[in-house]
Amino acid sequence: MAANIIDGKAFAATVREKVAGHVARLKEEHGITPGLAVVLVGEDPASEVYVRSKGKQTVEAGMNSFEHKMDADTSEEDLLAVVEKLNNDPSVHGILVQLPLPGHLNEDLIINSIAPEKDVDGFHISNVGLLGTGQKSMVPCTPLGCLMMLRDYHGSLSGMDAVVIGRSNIVGKPMAQLLLGDSCTVTIAHSRTKDLPDVVRRADIVVAAVGRPEMVPGDWIKEGATVIDVGINRIERDGKNKLVGDVDFASAAERAGAITPVPGGVGPMTIACLLANTVTACCRANGLAEPEGLTA
Ligand code: NDP
Repeated sequence: MAANIIDGKAFAATVREKVAGHVARLKEEHGITPGLAVVLVGEDPASEVYVRSKGKQTVEAGMNSFEHKMDADTSEEDLLAVVEKLNNDPSVHGILVQLPLPGHLNEDLIINSIAPEKDVDGFHISNVGLLGTGQKSMVPCTPLGCLMMLRDYHGSLSGMDAVVIGRSNIVGKPMAQLLLGDSCTVTIAHSRTKDLPDVVRRADIVVAAVGRPEMVPGDWIKEGATVIDVGINRIERDGKNKLVGDVDFASAAERAGAITPVPGGVGPMTIACLLANTVTACCRANGLAEPEGLTA
């Protein structure tokens, strides 16, 4: 059986289109332009690429993009002051502090200084608690993107057995909460899980968020299961640099019912969901109805 390919690039384009539609309506009907502020500390090349891409897509969706670049040796006090200023700025609806931060800065402290309702990354402890208790929150972008693709493919996820491999605060744990929220029976696997192949073989939905190239082989996948591969791993093969996921795509596609490729699967959904979260935050800040289909 050859799996259906879940095209994250195409799906992300439809999410961005929806976002742009909502932005246009907010401007036209309410005179409001959603704004996203991104704070970058230091000169990490990968972070610079992400920030540039986020800024570009924010503007393309019709929103305001505010970029704050700060030196690598910025003090915690100065960074907290910038976040505070953005918290109090009514033209800013979403704030994202690009991670990782230089080692001398306390990431938890900085993230928790962002006003929870502007925390479009969904990492603030209040949002983590709200998600964990099934309440309205800002949801981390990558798991939100995975959920959107799963809902789009299956309609209802109710009663399905789901395994999330990985228990990070950024991907694994919020992914598991979202699947639970959609009434899946959820197992969270990690590096100490006993007999991981057996656990994965029972799942109708497999979300792999490990960070180990092609760790999940096809023979772990239940016939017809849906596989969401979050992993982004750079490897060298045949003398060439290549991006691969945490799942061995070729063998998994033989057994899965549907699978996301790497690249072109989960990756493009992350920034699209950041834009979606910014519009949602803007609507909530102004007491307006939230955009349908862009939240958890
Ligand atoms: P972390 O390193 O924070 O977490 C990895 C998790 O995998 C841990 O919970 C770890 O378990 C688990 N793990 C490690 N080895 C094994 C193993 N052999 N068997 C089972 N579980 C294992 O990674 P992230 O969650 O931040 O990211 C995961 C992957 O997703 C990475 O490749 C990253 O690049 C990618 N990513 C992609 C994004 C996108 O936009 N597409 C966004 C964010 C991440 P334990 O806790 O026991 O150590």
